[in-house]
Amino acid sequence: MPAPVVTRFAPSPTGHLHLGHARSAWEGWHAAREAGGRFLLRLEDIDRGRCRPGFDAAIREDLAWLGLGWDGAVRRQSEHLSDYRAALDRLDAAGLLYPCFCTRRDIHAAGGAPQGELGAPYPGTCRRLGAAERAERLAAAPDCALRLDVGAAVGRAGRPGWDEGGRPATFDPALLGDIVLARKEFPASYHLAVTVDDAVQGVTLVTRGEDLFAATAIHRLLQELLGLPAPRYRHHPLLTDASGRRLAKRDRAATIRSLREAGRSPAEVLTLAGCEAR
Ligand code: GLU
Repeated sequence: MPAPVVTRFAPSPTGHLHLGHARSAWEGWHAAREAGGRFLLRLEDIDRGRCRPGFDAAIREDLAWLGLGWDGAVRRQSEHLSDYRAALDRLDAAGLLYPCFCTRRDIHAAGGAPQGELGAPYPGTCRRLGAAERAERLAAAPDCALRLDVGAAVGRAGRPGWDEGGRPATFDPALLGDIVLARKEFPASYHLAVTVDDAVQGVTLVTRGEDLFAATAIHRLLQELLGLPAPRYRHHPLLTDASGRRLAKRDRAATIRSLREAGRSPAEVLTLAGCEAR
């Protein structure tokens, strides 16, 4: 018997849902409903600096209005920090993490991007620190970042591919560089939390925007290192405006709420978001 389909929608409560979110949510909802599976809702609320009270309820209200009902309880990442801590401790015990003391400015000066954007991965400065200097700096820096040593991780787990909409896909995680998995004072970043959550929630099909295609290489790597199952993936195209510019949260006109207030129906909003049964 094929495994049941379990999908999820995982917005961050940092603003109102926009058309791009409606598309992502619908992709997961539709795939689950079509297969008689389950559609889950997770709130990625660990970015304490960016999450705002009120958006959690607004997201649930907008989804309900769109008719994209979810199954079971909502998972809030902020309530599961011990799960991320346990995964982090395992990676640390395997010698795959190192503390990073670089500021954004240091990283830019060395020609990298703090979040490991493609084309400008973190240059690995702190990976090369000697043990004595590392210990000294750790004592002086109560809250440094913890990075994954991607080279060592690939040495251990290879470059695992994945099922992308029924086709094999691969991407070299080294192109993203040594991404930040946590901070010393806070056990999770997006990459670690999403990997743990997809496993804990039994997600079998991840539907999300194609901007996260490359990040999937990191998630697959973490799954292999932590012995977690590999879901299937389906990355969908991002919505663009008439001039081809990607729709973003700052485009107030494209929030579900503003469209609803302007008198659009849920069906019209889903059509605007490019949701079509295939
Ligand atoms: N929180 C992410 C977003 O809103 C989604 C991440 C994911 O689906 O893996 O773009």
